Amino acid sequence: MSSERDSDFLPYNRPYIGEEEIAEVVDTLRSGWLTTGPKTRRFEEELARYAGARHALALSSGTAALHLALAASGIGPGDEVITSALTFASCAHVIVHTGATPVLADVTEDDANIDPAAIERLLTPRTRAIMPVDYGGQPCRLDAIMALAGARGLLVVEDAAHSIGATYRERPIGGIAHATAFSFYATKNLATGEGGALLTNDAALDERARGLALHGMNRDAWRRYEAGGSWYYEITDAGFKYNFTDIQAALGLAQLARLEWMTARREALAARYDAALASVAGIALATPRPEVRHARHLYTIRVRPEALRIGRDRFIALLGERGIGTSVHFIPVHHHPFYRERFGFRPDDFPVTERIYATTISLPLYPSMTDADADRVAEAVRDIARAERA
Ligand SMILES: *Cc1c(COP(=O)(O)O)cnc(C)c1O
Repeated sequence: MSSERDSDFLPYNRPYIGEEEIAEVVDTLRSGWLTTGPKTRRFEEELARYAGARHALALSSGTAALHLALAASGIGPGDEVITSALTFASCAHVIVHTGATPVLADVTEDDANIDPAAIERLLTPRTRAIMPVDYGGQPCRLDAIMALAGARGLLVVEDAAHSIGATYRERPIGGIAHATAFSFYATKNLATGEGGALLTNDAALDERARGLALHGMNRDAWRRYEAGGSWYYEITDAGFKYNFTDIQAALGLAQLARLEWMTARREALAARYDAALASVAGIALATPRPEVRHARHLYTIRVRPEALRIGRDRFIALLGERGIGTSVHFIPVHHHPFYRERFGFRPDDFPVTERIYATTISLPLYPSMTDADADRVAEAVRDIARAERA
């Protein structure tokens, strides 16, 4: 690779970090309080308000939020938890970590989200929870999923790692499912490097998760180093080390203040892609369902095998040759050796997931991209699709 091409490379993702983020982190560093503290509390309050939930617990990762939602609900050995076959492995990992059994459900073709009909077929007397994923930032079919769960007393933990800022029937994602997990990983719509949050309207669930997040210490143990704080604490559970830091909270507060702008910028870039790619015969685009605001974490296209001489992998390689970074979401859970071998999942059981996995490409989409960047990506996609027409 020549250095000229390197400098011309459009990365798949890049966080948006401005002077506000830098100033807020410096303020934290000068404050002398680095770990969980007053800025974390302020971030939790602002996040809960933004996302329409009564409680928000900031955590070390989105994975930690998913895990705590299950652990604080007492899910464990003998239980089954249903999640999407087309998701990041950590959804299945956290189910395994509790001792419960992961059960994978196929998705719907239009939005790559978990199929409520598939969930219904997989329910057993051992089912305790459903963990749907808002694929790419588009909320899952929450009405149908909450109705299925409500009729049987099941917990719904929504993996909203992609969907902060999204809405479902005009309500923000965060206060609809029994528990909602956000991720603030470096590539996500709100980025703190590493981080996540667990949102809920259930005060008891929040309180249990809060204790488990910091070693199982009794509530507000972090205050023990403040003036008037006491050295004494009690451990009431074998908890985890999942707490958030005030350095992360500094980034989070600045990012939250610009989140609406960042989401709007994602929407504008997605609309630009839609317009530029709508007439390209070799690929298919997806339209968001009418009842949602899509947070546009991902912009995915699907290659149409019947219309092209090349497959998805070659398409990605040709985009790479033109200096465009891409990704694939996701390698299905059941493709990973651990899940294939331990649980015996078979691809035949997830035909829609297989089709989506085989044909999907995630294009660059992030607020620091310019319109010209998006036009360059669209032009490359168009040129490749035209040159490789079947
Ligand atoms: C990023 C992601 C996670 C995990 O979030 P972390 O903060 O990296 O732990 C979980 N689920 C999905 C769908 C994700 O994209």
